[in-house]
Amino acid sequence: MAEAGINEAQQNPVPEAQQTTDGFHLVIDALKLNDIDTIFGLVGIPITDLARLAQAEGMRFIGFRHEQNAGNAAAVAGYMTKKPGICLTVSAPGFLNGLTALANATTNCFPMILISGSSEREIVDLQQGDYEEMDQLNAAKPYAKAAYRVLHAEDIGVGIARAIRAAVSGRPGGVYLDLPAKLLAQTIDAVKGQQSLIKVVDAAPRQIPAPDAVQRAIEVLRNAKRPLILLGKGAAYAQADAQIRELVEKSGIPYLPMSMAKGLLPDTHEQSASAARSFVLAESDAVVLIGARLNWLLSHGKGKTWGAAAGPKKFVQVDIAPTEIDSNVAIEAPVIGDIGSCVEALVAGLGTDFPKPPAEWLDAVAERKNKNLEKMAATLAKNPSPMNFHSALRAIRDVLKTRPDINVVNEGANTLDYARSIIDMYQPRKRFDSGTWGIMGIGMGFAIGAAVTSGTQVVAIEGDSAFGFSGMELETICRYNLPVCTIVFNNNGVYRGTDVNPSGGCDVAPTVFVKNARYDKMIEAFGGIGHQATTPEELTSALLEAIASGKPTLINAVIDESAGTESGRLTNLNPQSAAMKK
Ligand code: ADP
Repeated sequence: MAEAGINEAQQNPVPEAQQTTDGFHLVIDALKLNDIDTIFGLVGIPITDLARLAQAEGMRFIGFRHEQNAGNAAAVAGYMTKKPGICLTVSAPGFLNGLTALANATTNCFPMILISGSSEREIVDLQQGDYEEMDQLNAAKPYAKAAYRVLHAEDIGVGIARAIRAAVSGRPGGVYLDLPAKLLAQTIDAVKGQQSLIKVVDAAPRQIPAPDAVQRAIEVLRNAKRPLILLGKGAAYAQADAQIRELVEKSGIPYLPMSMAKGLLPDTHEQSASAARSFVLAESDAVVLIGARLNWLLSHGKGKTWGAAAGPKKFVQVDIAPTEIDSNVAIEAPVIGDIGSCVEALVAGLGTDFPKPPAEWLDAVAERKNKNLEKMAATLAKNPSPMNFHSALRAIRDVLKTRPDINVVNEGANTLDYARSIIDMYQPRKRFDSGTWGIMGIGMGFAIGAAVTSGTQVVAIEGDSAFGFSGMELETICRYNLPVCTIVFNNNGVYRGTDVNPSGGCDVAPTVFVKNARYDKMIEAFGGIGHQATTPEELTSALLEAIASGKPTLINAVIDESAGTESGRLTNLNPQSAAMKK
């Protein structure tokens, strides 16, 4: 009981430290309150203490050597979990490095929040020249789904809640959150601070499709003679695996997975039309797009790829973003909503009397598929010396077949193109690659993000050029002792290593690297295990050993330096080389 005239607080004074809290603690408390337990980042002014405190408060802080890789790790964590991945950077240049990953996340519809420290607003706005001065909020806006700045400690809860909701609701994407240095040090009453935090309720609400839209889509399918289902990475992201399988199997329609949707149903599924891709795209008369955009990866839904000569197709498009509809061609039946709810409604709409697609169509797809599989098997059976892309990938494919749980990261030009079609996937959300932009540089960031998020083995299949963009993160992989095996397809250059300088000058050609580089020695510098493999047998045994050990490993896979085509399968996007060849 309090003595007369003295209230309880005066009698038992709360220690100073407990009466107030500050911006640092409120950011961490707000993230934790929303079940976010990992930060990917790179420390420096003004966020070093934020990282330290996060770790002290039980969060994981994974420190990188370059912010772009930290951002890519956060993005892939977001894709895997449907919770925004967090990337923490310093101001100006660190922020800009992270911004590349944020833009890539937004383009790919991955939920991610880039949190960057920033300089004093007053100095930035008057352009008076501060340490790392930059108007980061406005720089981020064009590349992010949303961008916010918090100026007062009591608004941190709102800022984090808005960032989380913006990242994961509707079409997911990248969000920028600007935290000025002054904010982090601001102190406020501890109780008021705790009360200002928000636990986000139903961050990505279900969006149920309209019944008439579902009916319209079912009508298109009922009338189709040559239907096709096309699954994109939006379908994989949605984690509606059972509903999607039910739609595919109940309708009996052949399906085609985009590269990151591989494994949503096992690539060995009898309805998979992957091996007859060109045939089904050209010949189908009705296509159901589920979480896939008709962008360049699908030739914009037009032209020869889509069998323009065979007449227009009818498209059903299932997507959460209404503005995606009609982006390239007319969509006969848009179904707007979250993929789980939409696919569930479509399955119900099939009813019990939905006719299987005509046998003529299914037989034609099967025939083309078997022919192509036989052709591929013959190519893969060859054993050239030196090893080429096909014989090396055959070795990797055979090992990965025995471990369907392994996460696969894949980037490069030829290394990406060949691996995508040769390496089968068996489980959803296990393949992470160059994505919507078709970029290089995601390799080690995605590998670390996937290893940290899943706690399981990653195999990163990398072109030697692609690997160079993030190779220093081998140190990060070793520092955290992550089960990542990186395989570098080493053909001495970008595309291949045989180009020569036509002027006869002393510089090598623009596409050429140091000959016979030993990438395996790089990982040894940090205590990891390096292997050199010059034959498929050596590659098999190195990969088996790496997976069994679960240790950081790099295999330098030596490929014929003349193997590889310019820009892989994207030669048509190279106007210069066409002009030079004239
Ligand atoms: P891919 O490259 O595999 O073809 P895209 O990235 O082009 O796939 O397309 C993904 C699509 O999925 C985007 O249009 C996005 O709006 C949509 N999407 C993402 N998540 C969901 C979801 N939960 N429900 C419905 N649509 C979604």
